[in-house]
Amino acid sequence: MSGAGPSGFPVTRYDHDRTSLEALMGDQPSYRIDQLWHGLYGDLSDPTEITTLPSSLRDRLAESLPAGLAEETRSVGDGGETVKWLWRLTDGALVETVLMHHGERSTVCVSTQSGCAMGCGFCATGQMGFDRHLTTGEIVEQVVRAQREAGERRVSNVVFMGMGEPLANYERTWGAVERIHGALGLSARHLTISTVGLVPGILRLAGEQLPVTLAVSLHAANDDLRDELVPINRRWPLAELADACRRHIDATGRRLSLEWALIHETNDRPEDALRFASYARSLGAHINLIPLNPTPDWPTRGSPRQRVADFADELRAHGANVTVRRTRGTEIDAACGQLRADRLNIPVAAQDRRQAVTTLPD
Ligand code: SAH
Ligand code: SF4
Repeated sequence: MSGAGPSGFPVTRYDHDRTSLEALMGDQPSYRIDQLWHGLYGDLSDPTEITTLPSSLRDRLAESLPAGLAEETRSVGDGGETVKWLWRLTDGALVETVLMHHGERSTVCVSTQSGCAMGCGFCATGQMGFDRHLTTGEIVEQVVRAQREAGERRVSNVVFMGMGEPLANYERTWGAVERIHGALGLSARHLTISTVGLVPGILRLAGEQLPVTLAVSLHAANDDLRDELVPINRRWPLAELADACRRHIDATGRRLSLEWALIHETNDRPEDALRFASYARSLGAHINLIPLNPTPDWPTRGSPRQRVADFADELRAHGANVTVRRTRGTEIDAACGQLRADRLNIPVAAQDRRQAVTTLPD
């Protein structure tokens, strides 16, 4: 078991940077640090498997560098092309990760929090409430474990679209972005942060050195409807959100993505398409449409297939750039918005620890 760090969060294998690993290694020569770093990030090895290190040192490191994730369940769908894990963290909290292969590309969808405090009613993670933030190491290790699984098929993209709101856990998420870029070698444009629209976080992202791709989950292009679907809209409504997105686009040169889960007779009407197209066009954004996936506590269904196609055509007719996203992993509940750790009937320490959250996390 890992000890808790000064902040009360666990400190596990991938939470260390080079400096803290050096401190941990004591008086070892610097080439040992290089060997350890290469073992962890180049070969994706467990410390006990890094055979360039002497065995006494490996034993010591196995204790001082515990894994952050223990596999609770692993489910395979789409004929082996989608893999979902439920991980138990060292303090009992639960999170999910999804690996999706599509042709040449392999994408890992990582969680940044156990649960989520944002309260979007149609989202399974939102329905389970907020448990805790993930540490940088716990986020990075999800990519490492997925890459180990992928083997020869290199992970090409990481999307921060699993459980949680990445910009509500800004520092740790950004620490993971830097590590995934710098140590695991993924290019910044292949890293996508998806947000429900936390304006201060978007502005902060705009000021970062690494130009990651930004995806905003819009779901409604008028404030009344968005206030209902996505409660955080009451704090940062659509016009303010657009200003922040513009700042990110100007600062990074990256094209913005707008996500829209199509909900039957709720946000799939012709007037929704008209408003949405105009919002997207004003930002030069790309639209990703996805029919709403079913979740336990939300009564409304996703739009029927034909309505999804027609909505896409209507958006295009209004000059917008649109992709209809293929849903992956529905049979193993690995699709967007379906991640919910408490669905499984496991006696979970985290379930006792979960509190009703009435305020937003910092
Ligand atoms: N909190 C962030 C990232 C995680 S959610 C965000 O909201 O953007 C990942 C994506 O799944 C978001 O676009 C979210 O709107 C979408 N989503 C949530 N519930 C869904 C559902 N039931 N069906 C389809 N997409 C859903
Ligand atoms: Fe949280 Fe995103 Fe789900 Fe909303 S959609 S509850 S922000 S994970």
